[in-house]
Amino acid sequence: MAEIGQDIIQAKNLLDQGELVAIPTETVYGLAGNARNESAVARIFEVKKRPFFDPLIVHIGAISQLSEIADDLPSWAEALAHKFWPGPLTLVLPKSPAIPDLVSAGLPTVAVRMPNHNLTLNLLSTLSYPLAAPSANPFGYISPTTAEHVQAQLGDDIAYILDGGPCMVGIESTIVGYDDSNAIIYRKGGIPLEEIAEITGSLTRVEDHSDPLAPGMLKSHYAPSKKVVMGEISDLLKTHASQQIGILSFRKQFSEVAASRQIQLTSDGDLKEAAKNLFAALRKLDAMPITHILVEPVPDQGLGQAINDRLRRASS
Ligand code: AMP
Ligand code: MG
Repeated sequence: MAEIGQDIIQAKNLLDQGELVAIPTETVYGLAGNARNESAVARIFEVKKRPFFDPLIVHIGAISQLSEIADDLPSWAEALAHKFWPGPLTLVLPKSPAIPDLVSAGLPTVAVRMPNHNLTLNLLSTLSYPLAAPSANPFGYISPTTAEHVQAQLGDDIAYILDGGPCMVGIESTIVGYDDSNAIIYRKGGIPLEEIAEITGSLTRVEDHSDPLAPGMLKSHYAPSKKVVMGEISDLLKTHASQQIGILSFRKQFSEVAASRQIQLTSDGDLKEAAKNLFAALRKLDAMPITHILVEPVPDQGLGQAINDRLRRASS
């Protein structure tokens, strides 16, 4: 079992020794190691059982550190950083040689962000290196939004979990890169696309992430061990009547299934609340004595697009 606490000095000492520490962010908990230490980075892949072709995000504590990570920023990338950092936005930029190739899975680009969580920003300010950190869950499973989620799955493999409480955004960062002058959205996330497009212009293109070699954007991801089926729940209730069913709905309760086997993402239709609750709700349902989790799409606007993306991958 890992120790859970709020001791930044202890976290720093472990990281300085090349150990891994789980860190809180506003999106999900990260499994962090010194981004400049190749063996620490290798250990991240090992603990997560993450394939080496899936690159990590580098976390910095100040925008001024960007120049140590990335070369040649396009001007709108800087504009995005100034507008949204600290916050749930990751930029994919030309990689500086100071960052090991292992971090970027051999790509010439590197993903970087400044997370919006006081404890982790304080930790980063004491470190002389940036932190490489993917989500602190076994590869492919539901992302962790509390220290207890991390403990349950990776507690035996890491020494310390920095406990920053439940993640306030609850889904991963929006990832933005570019080719030539076109912005590319690699992952929908905590910053709605509409807000990104205000700065990058209408050229924003969303990649089709079904190609497993397109970094990290695997079709099946965020997946519980129970079978997740996505659609209109009233239809799914008819086609899955003979199964042991749980329901994850946006806000409605269904009379066909016991209330104890249903979770609503929000009581009043707030997409922020829904995003914050999403992964914990999937975990709760995954632990119930059921075989199938029925889920429905949420309104496909703002954060709803990122939620629907996670639900689709969880059901893939
Ligand atoms: P995680 O923190 O577990 O959500 O994983 C980080 C994600 O960042 C991965 O799934 C990658 O798809 C993405 N990523 C990291 N580096 C790059 C890159 N250079 N280009 C595109 N995507 C990247
Ligand atoms: Mg992840």
